[in-house]
Amino acid sequence: MEAFLLRLEQEKPPLSVFTSIEPLFLDPAGYSSFRILESGRTQPRAVILPDIATCPDCLEEILDSGNRRYRYPFTNCTACGPRYSIIEKLPYDRPNTTMRIFEMCSECRQEYENPGDRRFHAQPIACPACGPHIALWNHAGDLLAEKDQSLKAAARLLEEGAILAFKGLGGFQLLVDARDNAAVSRLRQLKHREEKPFAIMVQDIKEAQKLCVIAPMEERLLKSPESPIVLLRKKKEILASQVAPGCPDLGVLLPCTPLHHLLSGEIGFPVVATSGNRTDEPICMDEYEALDRLKGIADAFLVHNRPIRRYVDDSVARVILKREMLLRRARGYAPLPIPLHKDTPPLLGVGAHLKNTVALSLGNEVVLSQHIGDLESVEAFNAFKAAVEDLQELFQVRPSEVVCDLHPDYLSSRFARERSPHPLAIQHHEAHILACMAENALAQEVLGISWDGIGLGSDRTLWGGEFLLVEPAGSSRLAHLRPFLLPGGESAVKEPRRSAIGLLYELLGESCFFQEHLAPFETFSDQDLKVIYQALKTGLNSPGTTSMGRLFDAVASLCGIRQVDRYEGQAAMELESSAVLSPTESSYDFVIHGVKPPYTIDWGPMVRSILDDLGQMQPVGEIAGKFHNSLAEMIFRAAVLSHKDTVVLSGGCFQNRILLEKTVPRLKQEGFRVYWPQRVPPNDGGIALGQVYGAAHRLPQLKDSATGG
Ligand code: ZN
Ligand code: ZN
Ligand code: FE
Repeated sequence: MEAFLLRLEQEKPPLSVFTSIEPLFLDPAGYSSFRILESGRTQPRAVILPDIATCPDCLEEILDSGNRRYRYPFTNCTACGPRYSIIEKLPYDRPNTTMRIFEMCSECRQEYENPGDRRFHAQPIACPACGPHIALWNHAGDLLAEKDQSLKAAARLLEEGAILAFKGLGGFQLLVDARDNAAVSRLRQLKHREEKPFAIMVQDIKEAQKLCVIAPMEERLLKSPESPIVLLRKKKEILASQVAPGCPDLGVLLPCTPLHHLLSGEIGFPVVATSGNRTDEPICMDEYEALDRLKGIADAFLVHNRPIRRYVDDSVARVILKREMLLRRARGYAPLPIPLHKDTPPLLGVGAHLKNTVALSLGNEVVLSQHIGDLESVEAFNAFKAAVEDLQELFQVRPSEVVCDLHPDYLSSRFARERSPHPLAIQHHEAHILACMAENALAQEVLGISWDGIGLGSDRTLWGGEFLLVEPAGSSRLAHLRPFLLPGGESAVKEPRRSAIGLLYELLGESCFFQEHLAPFETFSDQDLKVIYQALKTGLNSPGTTSMGRLFDAVASLCGIRQVDRYEGQAAMELESSAVLSPTESSYDFVIHGVKPPYTIDWGPMVRSILDDLGQMQPVGEIAGKFHNSLAEMIFRAAVLSHKDTVVLSGGCFQNRILLEKTVPRLKQEGFRVYWPQRVPPNDGGIALGQVYGAAHRLPQLKDSATGG
């Protein structure tokens, strides 16, 4: 299948183009022949395409000094160019896009009207004579250079260490020389982004190969029309250490528009390319707004006068088990619909809290919005409301049924209650599994392994290490991790050392406070430890949790890997990377308690063995490896216990490559069918899709109308 996908692009007829390929790897279904069937769709509906990376033909034109579009940054054709980011309304015609303010010149019009031309009805068609142009401004908005001159001047500024705000395709990006540690550190300081890795943009695949190890599937993804940021294994530290400190992977992006191609050609070295926003705020779209909002961060602004209708961030993907996994679904992917295989009245899924996206059902399909972000600030919440409004406007549906998370205090849940007096709430971990079921058209009951940081459970406690029996119409809890307390509540999310102390307290009781030599205790003052002790003893501000994400944190803390996170999920990622260095096959013991569901998966024996290993100075990588193996074993044992033949893995923990690489082959070997998210993120970016899929099967009024299913 992998070879087929690679050959498809290499061997296609020279004049044919792919505007989009949606590969999805499935296990063999047992067919004995190949047929192309009539598609079941009854009403053809206008599909809004995502923004598509520059095609080879257009790239050739902008590099050809004899062509009238030589070095023109807004060159596009029917096979490439902006779509979702410029559409104002349907039908997709030029007057309904932000290109309407540019009147086509006669040459462009001829191409546009000629059915034999590559630009026949290419709505964003443009050329130097009639289309948009770029300019370079200083921090105050004064003109420094115009048109082609701007590129050279911008490249020079970057070389000198400046931070460049760059109006890209779906919003502003901030660029800085990725070789210059001082410049990258300055960007971190100004953006209040301590250690979270930055992605970089390089001119072409050859440059990327100098920095990272690139497998064929990764190369395909980098060069695909979707052109996401791909997480690749670093070869060695060539770039500034501040780009992705302590991280074995590097997010790499190839140019996705002619403007990006021309600029990176001019620059000639890798640049950090990060979203043009302050942390927790939405991305800037308008150049005048950017002058204000990025004041104090950007030294110069490379702008253009093609308006952006909606912000579309860069997508992020990684390849696991030779398959693509989207971690952030935005440019190149949104808003391509996901088939629902069921006619459904209009439904709106509003997602959860982190990495929010929203979903809208349209007949037998669901449109999942582009990545909106964490709903942590007023600005982010406003962006969320705007995205809901925008999606409804664009597709001309205004659902009265709204689906939200069970957590009543998420801003998205509050919004749902404002929109509808009785929104349907779907449990967070169930929604994670439902999203992956929707992606894979699964309608039978499956065992869902739903592991993430934290979500509210149906018993009102904090879940996160869940083994659920899920069908579209509902779920039950087969098993969960042994609960432990999180001293300090909310603050434990950012401090793995708190999860570790909570875990030890559950295992050893008060005597754990005599284990001061252990890493989690070391960084606390005596006063802090007193407060934590009291919190655990009284249960005040120490909620219990079954979270797998917090178990990862606790183990990372015990191993001395990390006590305080500088960004979400850092400790867990570092535990994963340390296991990479030590491939081991052995695992720790654990026990399953209970006579009927929900069973408790008791990590007690495992944590005791980890403490022993630490006492015997076993290498941390070895411990991390055995920990991952134990989790794979837990999943296998739960699968046997469930009597189901299909296992679905979802939730943020499954962004972990090692965990999937250990789990999937183990399950397959034993004859289980295994599914995990590929085109929809396993993290909370997929929740909205799961909400809509679940709601489609359980709103009572819907059941009545859907006779015969
Ligand atoms: Zn093109
Ligand atoms: Zn023109
Ligand atoms: Fe989650």
